[in-house]
Amino acid sequence: MTTTMIPTGEATAILPAGDHHSPVKVFGTEAIRNTFDDLCLQQAINSRCAPGVTELVLNPDAHCGYGAPIGCVLASPTHVYPGPVGFDIKCSMSLLQTDLPADAVQDKSTRRALIDAVCRRIPTGMGKGSRDVPKARRIDEKIGSAAMTEGASPDVLSRLGIPIDWPDRCEDAYHRGHDGTIDALKSRLYELRQQRGFKKFRDKVQQLGSYGGGNHFGECEVVQIADDEDAKATAEVFGLIDGHVAFLSHCGSRGIGHRLASHQFQVLEQKFDQWGIPYPGSDKQLVYAPLGSVEADRYLDDMALGANFATVNHLLINALVLEAFQEIIPGTRGHLVYFISHNIARQETVNQQACWVHRKGATRAFPGGHPALARTPFAQTGHPILLPGNPQAGSSVMVAATGAKDSCYSVNHGAGRVLGRRRAIRELNQESIDQSFNDADILTNCRRYPRDEAPAVYKDFNEVLRSVSKAGLATEVARLRAKFVIKD
Ligand code: 5GP
Ligand code: MN
Ligand code: MN
Repeated sequence: MTTTMIPTGEATAILPAGDHHSPVKVFGTEAIRNTFDDLCLQQAINSRCAPGVTELVLNPDAHCGYGAPIGCVLASPTHVYPGPVGFDIKCSMSLLQTDLPADAVQDKSTRRALIDAVCRRIPTGMGKGSRDVPKARRIDEKIGSAAMTEGASPDVLSRLGIPIDWPDRCEDAYHRGHDGTIDALKSRLYELRQQRGFKKFRDKVQQLGSYGGGNHFGECEVVQIADDEDAKATAEVFGLIDGHVAFLSHCGSRGIGHRLASHQFQVLEQKFDQWGIPYPGSDKQLVYAPLGSVEADRYLDDMALGANFATVNHLLINALVLEAFQEIIPGTRGHLVYFISHNIARQETVNQQACWVHRKGATRAFPGGHPALARTPFAQTGHPILLPGNPQAGSSVMVAATGAKDSCYSVNHGAGRVLGRRRAIRELNQESIDQSFNDADILTNCRRYPRDEAPAVYKDFNEVLRSVSKAGLATEVARLRAKFVIKD
């Protein structure tokens, strides 16, 4: 099968997926489409042709992933697919708006103090957790289990010192079990904890309130609201304050989510081998389970357990960030703008059909008037879309346009990687990366900025955003300009 895209507009194309399937829908200008390599396109075709899949969308940030590309949306009315959710279940973005004017963080020593105050509360790095920093919340198995089974419940929030009204600003504050109950999750967690691989449960739950490694980060921003009346009105509903300090966080479900996801991949692969079922596109990473089967129920429960952990992780991080600001700049006030995931499957309606919509490195994009937003603060405007770019190009807050219907109500989740980690480490010059951060007056907690995370490893963010707006998916409400970055 050829992997040639056919342009249909300035920022749209289709990728044929054979006679029996509608094509993959591709969003991106020509410059962006040139960043998709053959393997990424092949993964998109394999995912499109997998049993039960009715829609496959490829976003501008797409690149190769585990089975399915990172930067894709897969809809199915009949099956669930763990690969198109990924290892970091409910990896998400959140944005905290403070009442501090930009001037308050202009001074370098204030920014250094803020970095230290955040890092004393929220650890970074693989395996790191609350035990590794002095001012974290103490997390035991009881609160860890409650976070996984109850999500951001009033009880969990009050025990962790998180503002009780923040769930109003969450895309989802709670994920239920396969049958819609908490009990399903409680009994599934009990079952999992009997397994040998779960011996380290206490070590894993104490990672609540931590960033982890890789491209997860915390970033201090100055908000720049777009210069048009619609954007200004929307920004007000979002609670964004022009020229003021905000804080953007990126992380997921940490070791817990990884353990849950990798166990599911293993179990389903064994089932496929046992039953002699062919893998979609001969790719083991595209295992799936039909809805209603025991396998699907277990996957949905495990995904919910990981997702709830990620939710509480983000909310706790935001509470700790606010506490850190208050230590350095007493009296600082802050509120959550939004918390939104990019690695999750959710039940939604696609083309009038109830589907599981799998967003893998993709962000939900419901415009104003969408029925799912009816009882939220964003019923009229559409919800905030939080898009990280890179520290030097900035990040973006967008809002969906009606055209988002064509992309299963989704947009990208960032700029997307163009340069692999190993190549980046081999080819990029450390001195010039560090110098570029100096020149841009962006402080970091890293003595040397990780080369495999340098801005140059990501796609041109402005071209990515241009793709989104030209395709009619969303419009920009504000740009976020980094003042410091916390990374591993
Ligand atoms: P992923 O969820 O695939 O791990 O990455 C999400 C996106 O975050 C990347 O595609 C990239 O655009 C963005 N990103 C990675 N590191 C940083 C950072 O330090 N700051 C900002 N603002 N964005 C970043
Ligand atoms: Mn992640
Ligand atoms: Mn992520």
